[in-house]
Amino acid sequence: MHCKTCTDCGKDSYSAAVNSKWICPYCNIDLTNEPAKPATAKDEVHNEIQKHLVHMKSSNTLALGQQIGPNRKGV
Ligand SMILES: [Zn+2]
Repeated sequence: MHCKTCTDCGKDSYSAAVNSKWICPYCNIDLTNEPAKPATAKDEVHNEIQKHLVHMKSSNTLALGQQIGPNRKGV
């Protein structure tokens, strides 16, 4: 897990893939060329990551639910 601090809004974002495209989740600017720092050691960082993961999971669940609804009607 790696962390980058946004140059625009100053907030930290996290990603497991440091070499892939990196967009700030807060203001959507491209942080791909910013230096990443390891974000595995600190518990408070881990808690932040958990919050992000929970948020992502709930978003995915909502999206899936919307897709499953119409399909089930047809089957
Ligand atoms: Zn930002």
